[in-house]
Amino acid sequence: MAAGEKSGDDRTLARQLMAEITRLIKECGRPVRLMEVCGTHTVAIFRAGLRQVLPPEVELISGPGCPVCVTPDSYIDAALCYGAMPEVILTTFGDMLKVPGSTGSLSEAAARGADVRVVYSPLDSLPIAAENPDKLVIFLAVGFETTAPAIAASVMAAKERGLKNFFLLSAPKLVPPAMKLLLDDPVTQVDGFLLPGHVAVVTGTEAFMFLPREYGRPGVVAGFEPLELLRAIYRLVKMTAAGTPRIENAYGRVVRPEGNPAARAVMDAVYEPTDADWRGLGRIPRSGLRLRDSWRLFDIMAVRPVHTTPVPKVTACRCGEVLKGQATPRDCRLFGDACVPEHAAGPCMVSVEGVCAAWYKYGRGAFQYGG
Ligand code: SF4
Repeated sequence: MAAGEKSGDDRTLARQLMAEITRLIKECGRPVRLMEVCGTHTVAIFRAGLRQVLPPEVELISGPGCPVCVTPDSYIDAALCYGAMPEVILTTFGDMLKVPGSTGSLSEAAARGADVRVVYSPLDSLPIAAENPDKLVIFLAVGFETTAPAIAASVMAAKERGLKNFFLLSAPKLVPPAMKLLLDDPVTQVDGFLLPGHVAVVTGTEAFMFLPREYGRPGVVAGFEPLELLRAIYRLVKMTAAGTPRIENAYGRVVRPEGNPAARAVMDAVYEPTDADWRGLGRIPRSGLRLRDSWRLFDIMAVRPVHTTPVPKVTACRCGEVLKGQATPRDCRLFGDACVPEHAAGPCMVSVEGVCAAWYKYGRGAFQYGG
């Protein structure tokens, strides 16, 4: 069978799950709002066409699951400040290039002559630092729990290799505190969460136990194949209908309850929790990671701080509300017109995992939610 082709068994199972979801939603007697907090899930759900085939009472909303999208203007502004220094090489994941700060983007800075290089892993920055001893090589360290261990490992490797010119502009973020913020916000109504498979590989399911314990909400760790997503949605609707919130793992072939303790140990050795600014969500207590004192010599903000004053922007971009699940891209008057991937007006359209980019690429047709 060709990759991606569905077997007869898969189709039968999908039909059974759909029938069960439809039955349970009737039992519920009200719409059920489920949020995904993983950009890859957002894209996978669109790609599988699940929004179009689920009953309209199952509302799928997207949360702050794309690390690039939640990176605030102030971070990009600081990166631009460093990029303007002739002795600096910035290394970054490609998604960051077009994210607008308050004074422009990294790709615009590169066009003006800044040395900005795309890397696929934080570790790729180390050879660049070794080959350019007269330069300061600064990796733009954004990401969630998924990426933080690799960033921490890059710092450890730099120390081992005696690299004195490798630094981080460090801003990794933690997903659970952002979920708590959304649940504490009376405007964002969420009945259950499709939990991020990649993040859970590191954190394990334990990190999400606060959902049923503190908020009475279910969560299901989901994989990325259509059937895995459908099964996770079915489980969430079932728990919501029965009023029995739990954390379940529908991605057991990859995610263990305890997660990856070795990756967490690397992360914990280098980083400690700190308050962090999220685009659209504001400052969230203990939702970020900062380098511990013993690793602070790799923190460019500690070694050579820059001070930026955000330039107020007049923009109709509603990314902040989109990231909180309080608006859909179609509620934004710029969507698909003044804002498209080729010339994005906001970060949610820039990243391939951004909600607006996913709606634009896969979902400009009919939607079951948001009008
Ligand atoms: S469509 Fe563009 S301008 Fe509108 S919310 Fe999304 S990213 Fe912002």
